[in-house]
Amino acid sequence: MPTLAYSIRNSLYLNITNRCSNACSFCIKLNRYTGDENDLFLDTEPSFDEIMAAIAPFSDFEEVVFCGYGESLIRLEIVKQVAEAVKQKYCTRVRINTDGQANLVHGRNIIPELAGSVDCFSVSLNAPDAETYMRLCHSPFGAAGFRGVCDFIRLAAAEIPEVIASVVRVPSLDVDACKALALSLGASFRLRPYYQG
Ligand code: SF4
Repeated sequence: MPTLAYSIRNSLYLNITNRCSNACSFCIKLNRYTGDENDLFLDTEPSFDEIMAAIAPFSDFEEVVFCGYGESLIRLEIVKQVAEAVKQKYCTRVRINTDGQANLVHGRNIIPELAGSVDCFSVSLNAPDAETYMRLCHSPFGAAGFRGVCDFIRLAAAEIPEVIASVVRVPSLDVDACKALALSLGASFRLRPYYQG
C-alpha cells in the first residue's frame, strides 16, 4: 500500500504525486534508491479527502511538507486546498519542496496563490548555470528551465517568509557558485547529500 503521509522527526511529509517537471540524473525515484521503508510509488494520485485522511492519524508534528516522489506543484489546486486546510485544522507550518518549475508548468506566476498558506519553499536550484542545470536536471523547458527556477526563487523570496535554494552535492559541482547564486536571488542555501543509484 503506497504511503501518502509519513513523519520524520517533527515534520509530516505528504506524497501526492509521482509526476515531475524534471528528470534529474540523481533522482532517487528514477534510480529506485529510496533508503526508505515507505513505499512512495503511487498507483493513483490521492484526492483531497484521501490526503486529509492520511494526515489524520498523526498528531505530533510541527510542520507539513509537500515532498514525496514527484513535484507537488503540478497538482497546484490540491496543494492550495490541503495547505489551507492544514493551516486551519492543525495551525502548523507548511513547506513545499519544489523543483521551481511551477510558473513554467502553469504559464503564470503561481506564488501569490500560495502566499499566506505556505511558510517555506525549499527550491532545488541544483546548478550555477543553465548548461549544468540541463545536464543534471534534463528540464523539458530547455534553457528556460534554469531561468525559470532562478525567477521562481527570486519571486518567492519577495512573498514567502522563508525560501531555501538547495543543491545536491554531485561530483564536480561548483558548490560555491551555487551558493553565491542562491544568496543573490534572496534565498538561503542548503547542500543536500548525493546518493549514487
Ligand atoms: S525534481 Fe526531484 S522528483 Fe523530480 S526528477 Fe528531480 S529529483 Fe526527482
